[in-house]
Amino acid sequence: MGNALSPKQPSRKELLKALRVEGGKGTALLDDRDAGETFGWDKEQAVAEFAAEMAELVELQKRLYADGSNSVLFVLQAMDAAGKDSTIRSVFSGLNPAGVDVNPFGVPTDEERAHDYLWRIHQHAPADGRIGVFNRSHYEDVLVVRVKGFADEQVWKRRYDHIANFEQMLADEGTTIIKVFLNVSRDEQKERFQERLDRPDKNWKFRAGDLDDRTLWPEFMRAYTDALEKTSTDDAPWYVVPADRKWARNVCIARILRHHLEEIDPQYPAPEAGLDQIVID
Ligand code: ADP
Repeated sequence: MGNALSPKQPSRKELLKALRVEGGKGTALLDDRDAGETFGWDKEQAVAEFAAEMAELVELQKRLYADGSNSVLFVLQAMDAAGKDSTIRSVFSGLNPAGVDVNPFGVPTDEERAHDYLWRIHQHAPADGRIGVFNRSHYEDVLVVRVKGFADEQVWKRRYDHIANFEQMLADEGTTIIKVFLNVSRDEQKERFQERLDRPDKNWKFRAGDLDDRTLWPEFMRAYTDALEKTSTDDAPWYVVPADRKWARNVCIARILRHHLEEIDPQYPAPEAGLDQIVID
C-alpha cells in the first residue's frame, strides 16, 4: 500500500509533516500554504488512494471500538464553503456509525451563553472506544468571537491557554486529539457560493451573513494563524489541509486519521476463557 506512488508524491510521513503545524513559531503560516495543492496526485490516483486508506481506517475503527480504552476527537474548522460537511460525509460515513458521534457547534443558545464557553464542548467529548467529530468547536471562541468583536481582547486572548490546558487534560485522560483546518482559497469560496446561489438544490446552504465573514477574510486568517500556532501541541496537533480539491483533501484527512489510529494501536480484547470448548447445539 502506498508503494505505487511515483517519486513526486509524498510518503505518508512526508505528507503528515507537510500538513502539520509546528506550534509557537510565530510565522505567517497560512501565507505559505497552497489551498490548491495536490501533492502530485491526479484525481483518479487520489480516489484510489483514498479508498485504500479508508479500508485500513475501517479496520482500525473496529479495533478502537472493540478495545474501548481510548477515544479520538477530530476537530474540524474552516471558513464557509470550505467543505466541512462534505469532509464528514466522505470520510466518516465510511466508518461504523455506531462508533462515531458528529457534533456541530453553531451560534450558542441562551443556555450555552449562560455558561463558560467550554461547557457545551466538554459534554460532547468522546467516550472510550468512540470517535467524536466536532463540526466547528471551542475554536470559534477565539475566531468569530475575536473577529466580530463579540468579546473584549483581554477575554479572548486568555482563551488560548484555557484551550491548550483543556485539550491536554483530555489527552492525558485517553483522548487522541486531531485538529484540521480546511484551507480553502478565497477564489474557490466565491465559486462555491455562486453555485449555492445558482443551484436550487443548494440555495438552502446560502446565508447572506456568510458574505460578511467573506469580507473579513484577512482578519479571519489572522485569527486562524494565531489560534493554530498557539494551540498546536504534540498531544493536540493542528493540520492545515488544502481544500480546493476535494479528492486531495480526502486523501490528506484519511492519512492523518490513519496515522493517529495506528499510534493508538487498539487491540481486540482477549476472548473469554474456554471459548474453544464451546459447542453450539
Ligand atoms: P456551518 O456554517 O458550520 O455549516 P451554520 O450555518 O449553522 O453552520 O453556522 C454556524 C455559525 O455559528 C457560524 O457562522 C459560526 O461562526 C457561528 N458560531 C459558532 N460558534 C460560535 C460562538 N461560540 N460564538 C458565536 N458564533 C458562533
